[in-house]
This record gives sequence, structure tokens and C-alpha cells, in this order.
Amino acid sequence: MNLSARSEVDSTIALYVHWPFCVSKCPYCDFNSHVRAEIDQNAWREALISDLAHEAALLPGRRLTSIFFGGGTPSLMDPATVEALIGAATAHWSAADDIEITLEANPNSVEASRFADLANAGVNRVSLGLQSFDDRALRFLGRAHSAREGFAALETAQRHFRRVSFDLIYALPGDTESSWSAMLAQALSLGTRHLSLYQLTIEPGTRFASMVARREFEPLDIDAAAALYELTDAMTAAAGMPAYEISNYARRGQESRHNLTYWRYGDYAGIGPGAHGRRRGMRTVRHKKPENLLSAVSRNGHGIADEAPLSSGEAADEALVMGLRLSEGIDVNAMERRFGIPVVDWVRVDRLVASGHLTRNSGRINLTAAGRLLLDHILGEIAALGESAPMASAVA
Ligand code: SF4
Repeated sequence: MNLSARSEVDSTIALYVHWPFCVSKCPYCDFNSHVRAEIDQNAWREALISDLAHEAALLPGRRLTSIFFGGGTPSLMDPATVEALIGAATAHWSAADDIEITLEANPNSVEASRFADLANAGVNRVSLGLQSFDDRALRFLGRAHSAREGFAALETAQRHFRRVSFDLIYALPGDTESSWSAMLAQALSLGTRHLSLYQLTIEPGTRFASMVARREFEPLDIDAAAALYELTDAMTAAAGMPAYEISNYARRGQESRHNLTYWRYGDYAGIGPGAHGRRRGMRTVRHKKPENLLSAVSRNGHGIADEAPLSSGEAADEALVMGLRLSEGIDVNAMERRFGIPVVDWVRVDRLVASGHLTRNSGRINLTAAGRLLLDHILGEIAALGESAPMASAVA
């Protein structure tokens, strides 16, 4: 990162708002999502606005480049709450002219019927959780919508929002190169300029993890999943929507600016249950359980459960983990200037360059396609053992 990029990071802010409620819990999901019979929208609006005000007071004078409503199922938020939060955020911080305001939505008819109101509230980008075009796969994934509802919601979203992305989950048990290439070809023909394509992973503590333990199904084997990943890379690149991150594909200029802030290790305020944030060298985390967040906000005016300075070693490791996910890779020299410590072990980097897993262009390193399949292993290999001086003053 050069100096102007650095000062850009320090003068801007992204805002993440977590809405923790869902209609039901999907069996693969390890997100902070909860099912509740009743949700007091007014109480949540007030709590989130207080939580936001707390962060804004600690980050004065920033330019707001993006807001991301994630969850949970934020398309179940009252559009008036979305509007109030956008209004409050843009009153605390000056909004960039091209501010990106994304909301994650589930593709059922009830939620699609709110799209017009959400667009009027200021949302200009929607990320739809389609997950599959195959009803059998949707049932396996425990999704509450059908493929037909998914297509209808996508059409409605494309009418109301300038930018639309959708998610698919692949590498399900029984997926083959032929079944996945047919679904992906269809996805690429639907006119969106951004796609998130995730492989199914079995996360500890989920219903799928118990089912796998009971041998109710077997995940796709690792080589077959790797072949599907390579196929995905080739097809998206040929369609002019190459990977810009491990699981995200976009036409040039259509990348998620909000997620780029995370991956480029910029500051972001995270509010709402379980939200993480990073401000001026501090990491913040909110109370995870919705009821605990509400009582913390009424007690303290904010929902923070934990807040601590990041050591330069922790920050450098995080920036490495995030930055290597990106096709643009990382500028190691700029990172070392930023954190004041060695970030990578160059001997090991050069070994991975020789084995075809990394490319190196002076101080910049990138994963190759083969390297992307081994991200975790490579991170463990190349991370330098940093010192642990607190970062707060270095980033402020
Ligand atoms: S809708 Fe999304 S957040 Fe909610 S349970 Fe399903 S995967 Fe998790």
C-alpha cells in the first residue's frame, strides 16, 4: 500500500450492521443468526442507532464509503429501520458520492415485496442468497425458497437496485463437473455483474456437522471439490467476471467495495449482535446474543462485549490473511512500513514461488490458482513471527 492509499484507509470508514434474525436456521449455517417468534422493530431501531452513535463519536471526520446490512436476514428489517440507520450514518459521517449500500436478502416472495421500499430507503446494492437453482439441492440446504421463487426475486431485485449480486453454494454431495458447469453457465447468463460462489463446508456445531458425524451424508471429496473450484475459475474468467477474491467474482469496477475494505485491512465500524469492527488499531466485538446486546445498549449506550488493542504482530497477520484472499495480492513492503515489523518469511515465499503456489513481483505477492486451493496452509508457511507491540498508536 502506498502512502496515499494509506491515508485513504485512515480517512474513510465502512459500516457493518448485523441483523441477527432468520425465519429458520439453515443446517450448514454457523453465522450469528437466531429464530424468534416476536421482534420489537422499534427497540431494535433505537438500539442500533445508539450503537452506531457510539462508534461514530470515536471515529470523527471520516468519509463513509459503504454500509453493509448483513445477517441473519436483513431483508426482514423494517425498511424504516434501514432508512433511519442510513440517515444516522450519513449524518455522523460525510457520505462518499458513490457510497455503496448493500443489503443481504433471501429470495422469497415476502422479502422481495419489500425491495421497492428498501431501495427507497437508500439501499443501492442487493446480495441475494439464491444458493442453488435446483429444488432438491435447496431442500438439502434447508432453504425456505424454491428455485422458481429465487428467479422471481432476482428479477424483482434487478428492477429495483442498480447493483445485484447473488450467492450460490456448490460442491454439494453428488455434484459433478457437468451438473455444476450447467448451473454456473445459467448463473452467468442472468445479467448480474457480481457473484459469490461458495463451496459447501461443514462447520463445527452446525446440524450438517452432526449429520456427517452420524454418517447421514458424506461431503464431496476434496479432489472433486478442487476440480469444481478450478472449473469455476475458468468459466467466470471466460465470461469476463474473474475472481477478485477466493469466492467472489465480478466485472471490473463491480467488486464489493465494502468487502474490499475488510480485505485491504481498512477500518470499519461493526454494530449489532456479534458484529466485529476495527477502529484505529482496536478490535471490537459486540454481544452475540440479541437480548444481551439490547440490555448492554440500554445499560452502556453501546453493545460492545470486548475491545482490545491489536498488537502489530496480530494486525500484520490479519492483514496478510485478508490480503492474500485478493487476486491483487499484497504489497509486503507497504505492509511492513504500516506495521513496522517483518510480515512474511521471504525464504519460504520464494520456495512457494518456485513450487508454483505464489507469484512475486518485487514486494508484491499473489496466490496462483494452485495456491488459492491451499490458502490456509500457505498462510501458516509464510507468516513471519511478528513482535507484539500494541498497534493503537501506530494506526491512529
Ligand atoms: S438464512 Fe442465512 S443467516 Fe439465516 S440461517 Fe440461513 S444461512 Fe444462516
